Amino acid sequence: MSEKVYCANCLHCVVVRHFEAEQDKYILRVKCNKKKWSKRSGEEKLYKYFTVARRMQADCDFYEEMGEILPYIKNLKKELPIKDEIYLIKSPS
Ligand code: SF4
Repeated sequence: MSEKVYCANCLHCVVVRHFEAEQDKYILRVKCNKKKWSKRSGEEKLYKYFTVARRMQADCDFYEEMGEILPYIKNLKKELPIKDEIYLIKSPS
């Protein structure tokens, strides 16, 4: 029987830095290291970090559970930012 899985609880769901125009600022994105997330064009799709708790699969052959799902997902939902946050790379002082 297939079960819905939370990607956030999978070993292959990783957080990556995404730099835009300014080299010292970045935002966070999540990606599936097994490249299961793709755009219609076939290109790999990255999602905004703050949406990671919504990333679910009806079934996934590559799912590798990281731990007990509850209360992890509930806590994650509470702790995630509500929008993109911009992070700064500190220059050595
Ligand atoms: S391997 Fe499957 S369950 Fe894991 S992050 Fe990728 S799509 Fe989600």
